[in-house]
Amino acid sequence: MVTTARAHQAHQTQQETQQEAQQETPLEAELRRLAGSVPDPELPVLNLEELGVLRAVHTRGPGRVEVELSPTYTGCPAIEAMSADIERVLHEHGIPEVTVRPVLTPAWSTDDITPEGRRKLREFGIAPPRTTRTPADPVTIPLGPTRHAAAPATAEPLACPHCGSTDTELLSRFSSTACKALRRCLSCREPFDHFKEL
Ligand SMILES: [Zn+2]
Repeated sequence: MVTTARAHQAHQTQQETQQEAQQETPLEAELRRLAGSVPDPELPVLNLEELGVLRAVHTRGPGRVEVELSPTYTGCPAIEAMSADIERVLHEHGIPEVTVRPVLTPAWSTDDITPEGRRKLREFGIAPPRTTRTPADPVTIPLGPTRHAAAPATAEPLACPHCGSTDTELLSRFSSTACKALRRCLSCREPFDHFKEL
């Protein structure tokens, strides 16, 4: 009896594992593309795919879809707007039941912004976040003695999106949104937003 129960349990677990590891179906891929084309409510120059917040789309039954979305900054409470937009787009595509589930791990980082997204930001006059592996910004958050010794979070220089000069100064840690800082280029004198690294 015990053996049977165990075998049954093992079988169930295996089934669940298989379900989780399942490849994306053509429908899921199509819905993910649709959800990914939704513009970021804070920065409409980017869509959710380019912003890197869309983790996955799963069909959970006929007409039932679950979307996994990672929130960006806590200071950018755009996830409700993103969720509503995704629901609307998928409803319009004939999916009556759409659930948007926030995924907190792995946490979103500005490294998740795609190369295409970075290109668009620059084109829009916003200095894209530099790629970094540490979730710290040593320029705007000086932590005094506890500050991580030498290594800066990124080796990449911050360049003016207008002229490419790396000679820039910080004007304000916060621009129109908490995600961005306001800087000025010392070469072309133009102010610009910098999408801060996270
Ligand atoms: Zn410049």
